Order: sequence, then C-alpha cells, then structure tokens
Amino acid sequence: MISVERSGSTGKIVEDEAAMIALGGRFAAGAKPGQLIYLMGDLGSGKTTFVRGFLRGLGHLGSVKSPTYTLLEPYDATQFPVSHFDLYRLQNAEELEGLAIRDHLNDQRICVIEWPEKGGGVLPAADCTIRFEFAEPVGRSVSFHCDTELGRSLCACVEE
Ligand code: ADP
Ligand code: MG
Repeated sequence: MISVERSGSTGKIVEDEAAMIALGGRFAAGAKPGQLIYLMGDLGSGKTTFVRGFLRGLGHLGSVKSPTYTLLEPYDATQFPVSHFDLYRLQNAEELEGLAIRDHLNDQRICVIEWPEKGGGVLPAADCTIRFEFAEPVGRSVSFHCDTELGRSLCACVEE
C-alpha cells in the first residue's frame, strides 16, 4: 500500500516508514545513470528510509546501512550502480577529497547524497533535490524539485 497524498502544492504527506519505503520504490522507476540526487532535511526526517526503498526498487535485496560513519556505501549489483553518501559527519574538504566523490559523479552511476550542504559548495548542482520535514501530528512531508532534463523522469514518477 502506498499511503501518499498531496499536502498543498509542494509536498506529499508520507504517514509512516512503510509508506516512505514505498515512495522511494516509486521514485526508482525514474532512475537513470548519471543522476545526482540531494536529500535535505533534519536528522530523523526519513532520508535513509527513502533511499532504502529506492535501492530496493533498483533490485537491491540486502540491508541498507546508513552511511553515517562510513560516509559512503556503494551498491554495484543494482539495475544501475548507486553511490549513497551521508556527509553529516564530514570534517573538512580533505575528507571529501578522500572520498574521491568526483570518481562517483559520472554518467554511469547514480549518486544520492544526504546532507549535501556539508559539502561546502564543492558539489555540482543536483538533478533532483528532495526535502524531508516532520509533519504534524505524524509522518513526514516530502517535496521534490527536479531541475534538469535528466532529473525530470524522477519527478514524473512521483507525481500524482
Ligand atoms: P534520516 O536519514 O533523515 O536521519 P531515517 O531515514 O534514518 O532518517 O529515519 C529516522 C526514523 O524515522 C526511522 O526510525 C524511520 O523508521 C522513521 N521514519 C521514516 N519515514 C517515516 C515516516 N514517513 N513517518 C514516520 N516515521 C518515519
Ligand atoms: Mg540518514
């Protein structure tokens, strides 16, 4: 069951964890190699949960660890290879260099980045930015902004 409905014109209310995973799975239908996706929102707002659904939608069968400490978890057995970053704990620009993030930003892989704002403006602009917020009384609000031609297929498959 996909428990997603529109909240105003910008966001969707996603009522629980299962609905967030389902939304990530739907989003995967628009995935294309080379896409750069930013996930923005406070700690606990559901970013990693969404990625879990996205990866499942691309055929990943195993668990999805949050890259909180490793900063990067690559997935190479999915329909398209995916690099999942979480830059929350990034200390400095050198550490970003150490991740060799540029090697992942190519036309073969999909890069999904939690906390891109910690990248200090070094990262290129995203094809799609997703914003996660806590909703009242329960759930999360999720809004999608697709800014490039390459990103448009992603937004198209989460439109009602
Ligand atoms: P983030 O990566 O943004 O820090 P997580 O994806 O780790 O957040 O989610 C934090 C918690 O919120 C988890 O316990 C998860 O099950 C829960 N959660 C995720 N999406 C929703 C939702 N739509 N409604 C309620 N709880 C959710
Ligand atoms: Mg996370």
